[in-house]
Amino acid sequence: MECTYCGSDLANYDPVFVEATEDDERVPVGGFCNYACLSAYIDEEALTYGDACEWAPEE
Ligand SMILES: [Zn+2]
Repeated sequence: MECTYCGSDLANYDPVFVEATEDDERVPVGGFCNYACLSAYIDEEALTYGDACEWAPEE
């Protein structure tokens, strides 16, 4: 299995596996070689879902 973010072989790491909850179902998001990759992945996904984010910059 490969890291969802960077594609490294997870056999070389102590991987972090993530699940999300969608409509009361647990959906696997992916595996990450460490929390740094997980955090970076979340940051990128947050950009993708920016429309749903309630972050409001000061005007
Ligand atoms: Zn990685």
